[in-house]
Amino acid sequence: MNAFTYRGGILCADNIALPVIAEQVGTPCYVYSETRLRDNYRAFAEPFASLNAMVCYAVKACPNVAVIRALASCGAGADVTSAGELERALHAGVAPDKIVFSGVAKTRAEITMALKAGIHQINAESIPEMRVIGEVAASLGLRAPLALRVNPNVAAHTHYKISTGEMGTKFGIDSTQLPEAMGLAKTLPGLDLKGFQVHIGSHLFDYNNFREAYGKLADMVRDWREQGFDLSRLDLGGGVGIPYDGQTQAPFGDYAAVVHATVGNLGCELAFEPGRRLVGDAGVLLTQVMYDKQGTAKRFLILDAGMNDLIRPAMYEARHSIWPVRECADDAQPADVVGPVCETSDLFGEFYLLPGVGQGDLVAILQAGAYGAAMASTYNGRPLIPEVMVSGDTFRVIRKRISVAEQIGWEE
Ligand SMILES: *Cc1c(COP(=O)(O)O)cnc(C)c1O
Repeated sequence: MNAFTYRGGILCADNIALPVIAEQVGTPCYVYSETRLRDNYRAFAEPFASLNAMVCYAVKACPNVAVIRALASCGAGADVTSAGELERALHAGVAPDKIVFSGVAKTRAEITMALKAGIHQINAESIPEMRVIGEVAASLGLRAPLALRVNPNVAAHTHYKISTGEMGTKFGIDSTQLPEAMGLAKTLPGLDLKGFQVHIGSHLFDYNNFREAYGKLADMVRDWREQGFDLSRLDLGGGVGIPYDGQTQAPFGDYAAVVHATVGNLGCELAFEPGRRLVGDAGVLLTQVMYDKQGTAKRFLILDAGMNDLIRPAMYEARHSIWPVRECADDAQPADVVGPVCETSDLFGEFYLLPGVGQGDLVAILQAGAYGAAMASTYNGRPLIPEVMVSGDTFRVIRKRISVAEQIGWEE
């Protein structure tokens, strides 16, 4: 079911008309559908039910505790990239043995916290980091359950800012250094090597990139097992894309087929770290048109939401779908949809056709659940906006607006 549909000409989230939320909470705000979150989790987990697999939600995509809790209640674990995210996951009730810790540079304090909490796995990204994990674990009298993040040198064919699996990016251990890393894993008493992890990038459309990476991973498992290593786990990372404006995508079943074909018969316990795929289309940014500005060359619809609320268009050249909240059959004059922030890059996109939309009207920016609120800032002295969770016939504010007065209270 799509969570955001028109009923009687009004865009709704589940059974709640968006103007009701705008009225009660104010705009701009993020609106999530709990129904959609749950559906997305089930759709992801189901194809792997026959394998020994764990789906760990990549908390960084949308770290609101209520969102983590909704997914955890369906059975999701968590993939965290910092102590802050670990704290959020634990607070939301994710069992420690379902938490994996990724991230390029974990501090001693973070490693200590993770080990004391008894998490499922720490993914090491470099040889120096392995040494620190080993030291910290040994000092606590523990052995760290470890996976090595390998850099498979695979092109991800996504935006260069979110491509992570090629030689020359800062991520993972290159194949040339893997023998040294494996030797270290065997000798350091604080390390308990369980297996490998890969994450080749975010928002991938071409599942053949996964096929290549997972194929290489399977070969590595076979090779290192022959050399006497007991490798029981594979963490396949996240990165499965979702369709944004005007895009279509191969069915998720095709991704699942790639997993089964490449690593399904190794007898490894599998982990997945999806972020965008679970939350991306479960959230919208609800915003109001402040001004309909007819310039000489162009028409601008200026929203009350800006790049500080949703930075993906400015940062990744993303084009989100934008829908009028009140459906209208009129012809539309194209407009550039922009925010109020003093930056030319505060542009959601050019030449949108939004029938019936003018000054004072509400619009919804779709696919805003992932890397939306998560990446928000207070740039231009703006408050952090509220987040709202809709659940069938009810909704609640899951993060209040952080007023400027409150921010000033943190200063001086
Ligand atoms: C960002 C990230 C993810 C989640 O990526 P999505 O594209 O949102 O699925 C998973 N694992 C790691 C290590 C990441 O850095």
